[in-house]
Amino acid sequence: MFESLSERLGGVFDRLRGRGALTEADVRAAMREVRVALLEADVALPVAKSFIDKVTERAIGAEVTRSVTPGQQVVKIVHDELAMMLGGDAEGLELDVTPPAIIMMVGLQGSGKTTTTAKIAKRLKEKDRKKVLMASLDVNRPAAQEQLRVLGEQTEVATLPVIAGQQPVDIARRALQAAKLQGFDVLMLDTAGRLHVDAALMAEMQSVAAVAVPQEILLVVDSLTGQDAVNVAENFSKQVDLTGVVLTRMDGDARGGAALSMRHVTGKPIKFVGVGEKLDALDAFDPQRVAGRILGMGDVVSLVEKAAATIEQEDAERMAAKLAKGQFDMNDLRSQLQQMQKMGGMAGLIGMLPGMGKLAAQAEKAGADDKLLGRMEAVILSMTPKERGKPEILNAKRKIRIANGAGTTVQEVNKLLKMHQEMSTAMKKIRKMGGMKGLAGLMG
Ligand code: GDP
Repeated sequence: MFESLSERLGGVFDRLRGRGALTEADVRAAMREVRVALLEADVALPVAKSFIDKVTERAIGAEVTRSVTPGQQVVKIVHDELAMMLGGDAEGLELDVTPPAIIMMVGLQGSGKTTTTAKIAKRLKEKDRKKVLMASLDVNRPAAQEQLRVLGEQTEVATLPVIAGQQPVDIARRALQAAKLQGFDVLMLDTAGRLHVDAALMAEMQSVAAVAVPQEILLVVDSLTGQDAVNVAENFSKQVDLTGVVLTRMDGDARGGAALSMRHVTGKPIKFVGVGEKLDALDAFDPQRVAGRILGMGDVVSLVEKAAATIEQEDAERMAAKLAKGQFDMNDLRSQLQQMQKMGGMAGLIGMLPGMGKLAAQAEKAGADDKLLGRMEAVILSMTPKERGKPEILNAKRKIRIANGAGTTVQEVNKLLKMHQEMSTAMKKIRKMGGMKGLAGLMG
């Protein structure tokens, strides 16, 4: 999958990567080529446009990290935005409920819905050790129920016995009861397909969903139909609450337009892709990995990531050196507070710093939480630049002004000043102990 797009992009970035410096014109020229490559891959026009805009903006505004080339930086940006376009982080099935969890499969006829039902059941059985029951609600196509029964035999997954003449909603009720009584973990409902999206199909789907109340409603679409697949998904998602999409026949899809546009157009994550007729030809869909594969430049991406991590480490060491010299002002405290917020929770973080045990206890007493960190930051933001650099000039009048500006009390302002004071003192002590390197590590 994605072979042709991969090839086209590879050419563009090989040329960019070799260059020592990149002008805005270089970036724009490369992005024009990327745009053509995306459109040739059958990506929906608005999706391609938004992608190019985002990458261009980031690439032109990007500060190039030392020790990588501008071209490498652009590759990393394209990789990240490509992963975002594909859906960001991988999303699996949400089956964490009192059993049975119910998965309802929907889609047009011939999309691969029944095959995919069996593929997912097999995967749940083998990978997740789930006890799965499958039921076919397709009473339109004479062979459909029989097809699922045969697939059940092949995968050794139980199927609901067929009762001739029973209607979909009744089959759903019976399946639910059987799953409960017989202790199944997961019930998969394979609903009927149609040739086109029509009102009768939608009505049936909705009434089954109302009875079964599924945790997952997965739409199966054929990736080979390109933008049609995306349109079908948009149509379905207007009628039922889809939780995800399965794209079949990705094994034959060199272009990948449906996969690339799906998330942006429908807002629904691709959860699996079908990659063959065999019953284990089903992959979980991981946007990061797929983006990596499309670009085929994993080495460049990890190089840029490593370089960025090194810079962060150097920043932390610089900060530590500043602290040690006793030049720890309110701007530094603010960036420390932001770091803490990122790392989750003040008490825990302060506790990690040597000599900060007392403060950690205080923070805990004060009910230190993200809100407190935010309030402290607001206090710092209400100071003038001069006050931030030289907090010792804060007199009563200034404190009242700052408290008012931050929507808090003078008491809180004092608390922050005390914290700053104690941190400065602790830092000086640490310096005497010569523990800077370890501290820098802790704060990175
Ligand atoms: P349904 O009408 O939507 O239930 O479609 P079926 O499950 O009967 O599948 C129709 C055909 O597509 C069958 O021949 C399947 O083997 C084939 N098929 C399903 N998924 C894939 C896939 O991911 N790759 C390939 N190559 N064929 C698939």
